[in-house]
Amino acid sequence: MFVVGLTGGIGSGKSAATDYLGRLGITIVDADLASRVVVAPGSPALAAIADRFGDVLQSDGSLNRRALRDIVFADEQARRDLEAITHPAIGLELRRQIKASASPYTILVSPLLLEGSQKEMVQRVMVVDVAPELQMARTVVRDEVPESQVEAIMRAQMDRETRLRLADDVVENHGPLEDLHQRLNALHQHYLQLADRYA
Ligand code: ADP
Repeated sequence: MFVVGLTGGIGSGKSAATDYLGRLGITIVDADLASRVVVAPGSPALAAIADRFGDVLQSDGSLNRRALRDIVFADEQARRDLEAITHPAIGLELRRQIKASASPYTILVSPLLLEGSQKEMVQRVMVVDVAPELQMARTVVRDEVPESQVEAIMRAQMDRETRLRLADDVVENHGPLEDLHQRLNALHQHYLQLADRYA
C-alpha cells in the first residue's frame, strides 16, 4: 500500500486537505481519531491509564481528557508514561486501518507525523503550509480561543523550517480553498502514478 503522510501545524489546513482528498475517493486514516478510539471505554489502554493516573474518568466511563492533559502538562514523567501506554495502541490502530484501505493510495493525516515513529508508516510526506499569522488567524476563528493559547500550541509543535525540510511535497494554503483544491488535484494525479509504480 502506497501511503502518503499529511501533516502541518495547527490551523494549517490538514482537515481542509483531507476533506477534499476524501471526496476524491482516497481513504483518510486520521491519527487524532485513532488516539480517541484506543482509549474508548472498555479498552485496555483506558484501563492502563486509570491504573497509572487514578480517577481521570467521567461519569459515563469515558476519559476525562482535560483532567489528563492537566496532569501530563505539569509532569514530564507522567507525559512519558501516558505516551508509553497510548502510542503502541495508536500505532496498531493506524496500521490496521491502512491495511484495510481499498483506495489507490492512502493518506495518513497526523499533527505528529514527523515527531515520532508514524513517519515509518508512510512512503511520502506532504506538508500543508501557511504563514504563522494566517495559521493564528484561522485557528482563533475556528476554535474560538485566545491568541495566547494558539501561540503556546504553535511553540510546542515542530518549527516550520524543520517541517518544510522534511517534506517531499509542500502544499501552500494561503489562498482561497479553490487554490488548495487545485494544488491537491495535481498532487493526487502524481500520487496515483506513484501508487501504480509502487503496486
Ligand atoms: P488543521 O486541520 O490543520 O488544524 P483546518 O483544516 O481545520 O486546519 O483549517 C483551519 C481553519 O481554517 C478551519 O476553520 C478551515 O475551515 C479554515 N481554512 C482552511 N483552509 C482555508 C482556506 N484556504 N481559506 C479559508 N479558510 C481556510
